[in-house]
Amino acid sequence: MGGELRSVARMVSAIRTVEGGGFVVRRPFPTQLMQDVDPFLLLDQMGPVDWAPGQAVGAPDHPHRGFETITYLLEGEHEHQDSTGHYGRLGPGDVQWMTAGRGVVHSELPTAEFRAKGGRVHGFQIWVNLPASHKMMAPRYQDIPCRDIPRLERGGVQVRVIAGEVGECSAIIETVTPILMWHLSIPPGASFSAPVPADHTVMAYAFSGSGCVGVASAALEDGQLAIFAMEPGEISLSCEEAAPESLEVLVLGGVPLGEPIVRYGPFVMNTAAEIQQAFIDYRDGVMGTIG
Ligand code: MN
Repeated sequence: MGGELRSVARMVSAIRTVEGGGFVVRRPFPTQLMQDVDPFLLLDQMGPVDWAPGQAVGAPDHPHRGFETITYLLEGEHEHQDSTGHYGRLGPGDVQWMTAGRGVVHSELPTAEFRAKGGRVHGFQIWVNLPASHKMMAPRYQDIPCRDIPRLERGGVQVRVIAGEVGECSAIIETVTPILMWHLSIPPGASFSAPVPADHTVMAYAFSGSGCVGVASAALEDGQLAIFAMEPGEISLSCEEAAPESLEVLVLGGVPLGEPIVRYGPFVMNTAAEIQQAFIDYRDGVMGTIG
């Protein structure tokens, strides 16, 4: 049972920075060290942050073109609206997979009720690049409540399969190119391994607790991203018996696009001319307005 294990090619620590209307994120990339992990453009862990009543902020109206934004909320209450008329509320465990394609203007804010009472916000925002052939596709919006996200338990490890598949368990979200996104909760003394397609870049981000990763069982601390070598084999993660808490990990994988990336703020295209066009289209209202 079990094949070769992939090794870890690179370990990166998240930096802390401020996003949107002024909320703190932990960000493994993009930073000066690493711009992207093809096909992923950004990985932000929002919080966990405890907001006092009236203080919670989000990201008010802004545009996107040329990629997808995924929000995975662990705690808190957000509402998202966009210029194509989509409206979604996200609570703990819910996922919103928004394909900006040729362009949307959207807002990502705590709900009015949450803002009023305050509380903890914790979650992820992930940007996935679109291939040149799909950058100008019609915007698409997939709102998946927590209860509809397939999950499985294996040797005490809880696996939420947000994208891709683990064994027989397949995600319900449709992706443009093959993408893996799994949330693993690995309790002390447990370990997890699973095959991943040989042509996928795969990485594991620890966002709570600590453990070990890869064939050499390298230490994986809270806030560290392990990028596996692009080689055939399974990925493996474990949490030591004596650990005080579970290791929480987000696994991301995808097929590298291998295309030029020109990014400027909320737009990610293949050429500088396409970025200029995105600014013109945004200015001219081509991406619409909310409400
Ligand atoms: Mn956004």
